[in-house]
Amino acid sequence: MSKQTKILIIYTGGTIGMVEDKETGALYPFDFEALTQQIPEIKKFKFEIDSFSFDPLLDSSNMTTQDWIKIAEVIEMNYEKYDGFVVLHGSDTMSYTASALSFMLENLNKPVIFTGSQLPIGVLRTDGKENFITAIEIAAANINGRPIVPEVAIYFENQLFRGNRTHKFNAENFEAFQSINYPVLAEAGVHIKYNSTAILPFPKKKFTVYKEMNTSIAVLKLFPGIQKEVVESIISIKGLKAIVLETFGSGNAPNVPWFLDLVRTAIKNGIIIYNVTQCRGGSVEIGRYDTSIDMGKIGVVGGFDITIESAIAKLMFLLGKNYTKKQIWKLLQTSIRGELTVA
Ligand code: ASP
Repeated sequence: MSKQTKILIIYTGGTIGMVEDKETGALYPFDFEALTQQIPEIKKFKFEIDSFSFDPLLDSSNMTTQDWIKIAEVIEMNYEKYDGFVVLHGSDTMSYTASALSFMLENLNKPVIFTGSQLPIGVLRTDGKENFITAIEIAAANINGRPIVPEVAIYFENQLFRGNRTHKFNAENFEAFQSINYPVLAEAGVHIKYNSTAILPFPKKKFTVYKEMNTSIAVLKLFPGIQKEVVESIISIKGLKAIVLETFGSGNAPNVPWFLDLVRTAIKNGIIIYNVTQCRGGSVEIGRYDTSIDMGKIGVVGGFDITIESAIAKLMFLLGKNYTKKQIWKLLQTSIRGELTVA
């Protein structure tokens, strides 16, 4: 007899399990028991389904790197026991957590599927039921015992995405996530159609969990008219290790002397500057325009088509390991979990 598939649900919070506060009308997360009562369908699965709940449950806007580490630990502790993991998570910061987990879980050979919803599961028109049920099905999907999706992914509104390629682009529609620079991993209609060529290959090396995330980073979003004082104050933050520089178009920034001087000073002071475009599609191409050529010369690192969410998580992850600056520099321009495409 073949062994029964086992799935662990990690419930962190988010709208999917929220109810309305009677006084304020605001949504807050409720317990797993209450959530599953709204979805008796999951009892029909032939798999063994267990759960682990965060305490307290979180609106994902309150998530910190400690919570990412906790998810990683729960997966690590239960890795051998389960065939796949479903992480119920608020959609607001889901792309950040999924990106972070993709880096923290090296040589992952089991599915870790994030999902949530825009409407609570107790609401009649909820999108949560379909998202939850299909996420479980994907986490359990295998061919001859080998998981079909051995990676950290987000399932939302009929589509499965590589987690570190996504961003939340809509606060209203059920279709809340996009992955503009990378194809969907699966599409759920009558059948779940897996895009096997887009899914990461099954790893050969040993599964390893990394739990150090260094948060000494900042994000500097450029805008026309940005003042010198703003840039100055960010680069002079004590102990700062890296800046995600959100640039225009294909990685462009004002090529005025004051700006380039400040960037040069920051790099001299040991701060890594990671050039990531504000555009959600396309890639950074340092040197394509005059407005990026100098940044390349002074040592700004280009992030190709990485998302902002993934860039932040990747920097925290790389800074948390004992790499030299040179190694970090190289890895930032290399795809380590399928998070970017080198152009
Ligand atoms: N504020 C909620 C959260 O991110 C939104 C959601 O779950 O969709 O936790």
